Amino acid sequence: MKLTWQRQRIRPRHRFSTSQWGVDEKETLIVRVEHDGVVGLGEAVPSSLYGQSLESCEATLAQMAARLGDDPFALESILTRLGREFDSQRAALDGLDAALHDWVGRKLGVPVWKLLGLDQPRKRTTFTIGVADPDLTRVKIDEALAAGFDALKIKVGVESDHETLALVRAKFDGPLFLDANAAWTPEEARRQIPTLAQYRPTIIEQPLRREDWQQMKGLRDLGVAPIFADESCERPADVVRLHGYVDGVNIKFNKCGGIRPALRMVYLARELGMLTMLGCFVSSSLAIAPALTIASLVDYADLDGALLLAEDPFEGITRDGGVITLSDRPGLGVWPRGR
Ligand SMILES: [Mg+2]
Repeated sequence: MKLTWQRQRIRPRHRFSTSQWGVDEKETLIVRVEHDGVVGLGEAVPSSLYGQSLESCEATLAQMAARLGDDPFALESILTRLGREFDSQRAALDGLDAALHDWVGRKLGVPVWKLLGLDQPRKRTTFTIGVADPDLTRVKIDEALAAGFDALKIKVGVESDHETLALVRAKFDGPLFLDANAAWTPEEARRQIPTLAQYRPTIIEQPLRREDWQQMKGLRDLGVAPIFADESCERPADVVRLHGYVDGVNIKFNKCGGIRPALRMVYLARELGMLTMLGCFVSSSLAIAPALTIASLVDYADLDGALLLAEDPFEGITRDGGVITLSDRPGLGVWPRGR
């Protein structure tokens, strides 16, 4: 098995910001597994929030390349073994997990969702309005609604929250997801969240710092909306830890390490009676496809990472209003644009 990678530069249409950070342009890694004349592709999307960088990802992939073995069908043993060894670099694991699944699907001539026994992925996604000044916010809301999105996610946790939410609610009556990205102390959250009730949020995501997860229990009792953990929930064991403290979890592939750990998180959360969401970072469609592959299993999808781009280097995911559909091509169902 030959493992290679290259950097890919992508650019959001507008600067994308949260209460904690912003991005004008970024690089991700295209991970390529080649064996027996078949190529599988995945995308690694490192995030500094989780101790990952392009460099740490590349260094990890270089070490993994020598330890892959020669049977790409042995997904479980390869990914479990490398998962133990490179546990702190789960964006790199995610890229490899995706490329191996893509390889197996292409080799067998079936889509990965079919290999997993799932329906063809077709899911409503929220579209995210990042933190911006009122004029740009107005432009973003108008663009999102004109494009037919019918569920919006608003980044909150800054001074202009009420101004932004009033703007949104003046134009939009549908499901509204609020994400504070760890902006508040427990005291601030207890003050702020009741004032957000007037905007009828569908859920409120990560109101507190990631280490303050136990305090989220008290915020559930405010009864404003289900409280979701994102930054506080990276991997399967976190779902178990958070049970009883939050209503739901936001599962992302670069946090957990790919399709296989994400499936474990979904099943654990469902068994424990928790709500589930699949989230993403700004990326191309190649990183969205693995998440969309399992999206039929979750309550909510926030898989707009490639829809925020000026130009997506991959195609295979189509959109009709707020609903995105994955192709029925073998593998992950996406391919480099124009090929
Ligand atoms: Mg979030």
